[in-house]
Amino acid sequence: MSRFTGRVAIITGAASGIGKEIALRFAAEGGTPVIADLNIDAANAAADEFKADGGEAFAVAMNVTDEAEVEKGVADVIAKYGKIDILVSNAGIQIVKPIVDFPFADWKKLLSIHLDGAFLTTRACLKHMYAANYGRVIYMGSVHSKEASKLKAPYVTAKHGLIGLAKVVAKEGAEHNVSANVVCPGFVRTPLVEKQIPEQAKELGITEEQVIKNVMLKDTVDGEFTTTDDVADAVLYFAGSRTNALTGQSLVVSHGWFMQ
Ligand code: NAD
Repeated sequence: MSRFTGRVAIITGAASGIGKEIALRFAAEGGTPVIADLNIDAANAAADEFKADGGEAFAVAMNVTDEAEVEKGVADVIAKYGKIDILVSNAGIQIVKPIVDFPFADWKKLLSIHLDGAFLTTRACLKHMYAANYGRVIYMGSVHSKEASKLKAPYVTAKHGLIGLAKVVAKEGAEHNVSANVVCPGFVRTPLVEKQIPEQAKELGITEEQVIKNVMLKDTVDGEFTTTDDVADAVLYFAGSRTNALTGQSLVVSHGWFMQ
């Protein structure tokens, strides 16, 4: 028996990048990942990939900012598997601009995906976790849950906010054997980061190489990007914890960029 045999995990934003790696690793350890993503074609492709490797997986179309879609996606998972053991609230975007130029619509869009998405998926899953007296909730934070950078006002605000949400879920969930924690990665070379490199170079008036070396990886201990594998290790550690000893915590996975 593997660590996650029989466990069902909803992972939002799992059609790409960090979420996809978490789903892959969870499936490799016997679990059933539900790939909940805005991009249903990519979610279906990821589910097919995992099934081809002999695992079980399920793709659901879900815009995490849409209350009805979140409720429906969670209901579909319950109809198919009867339970949700783990929620990894991971879907996210990035928009970089100085505050003075930040369009209000972009501020609201970013906060909505990161914070409304975390709230709506948490609320929908908690009901079922409480009924089963078991649940593990993991939020995808960032070093920007602890630290600030120029050009990222709504992202830093949202990622700090997730730590507050996790602490409340940890307190309310405890009596139902539900824990909540936050994983806080440094820069990981996913599409979300690839897009930022030229954008930051333009905003800061430097080359793309300088963005990588002097902005993104400047404070790491080894000049290395964090990998999707590094992040999946931490997520699965929280997902597999057997007691409430680890709850309300945030763990930074950043090659030493941020030290607590
Ligand atoms: P990514 O762009 O590779 O993947 C994000 C996924 O989220 C995509 O599949 C996209 O379709 C999905 N998504 C976007 N909006 C959605 C919505 N409204 N509803 C449902 N799905 C939606 O990005 P990534 O780098 O893998 O980022 C995943 C998470 O990790 C984000 O929360 C991000 O903030 C966080 N993070 C990333 C880094 C990094 O360096 N890449 C560092 C720290 C934290």
